[in-house]
Amino acid sequence: MQKTIIPVRIGVYDYKILFLSEREINDKYLEQRMSGFIDLVRKEININRDMDLSTQKETIIHEFLHGLFHEWGINLNLDIEKDMEEKIVTTLSKGIYEIETTGMLKAIFELMETGDK
Ligand SMILES: [Zn+2]
Repeated sequence: MQKTIIPVRIGVYDYKILFLSEREINDKYLEQRMSGFIDLVRKEININRDMDLSTQKETIIHEFLHGLFHEWGINLNLDIEKDMEEKIVTTLSKGIYEIETTGMLKAIFELMETGDK
């Protein structure tokens, strides 16, 4: 996937998901080996397209959750403890990715809708 831009809504704002090379990610964020990051000012989720696809997908969820906390005005790092948002976002993004890729929720919902509980 080259230079694809995917629009996404976070809270009431329009964000863009950008797929950049690892070099572009490192130049923008000034940190090495990043799988991605969210730019809350430019409203962009930057994804390292040189990572494997499952890492890119989980990273989109991860950065999306950072965006949600920001847009909802929740600052876990100040309200609870330093790096708390990173811990919570990391846990949630892996869990959501697992639920989504295994089709677990879809299967549960389909069972509920057919009344076959
Ligand atoms: Zn993070």
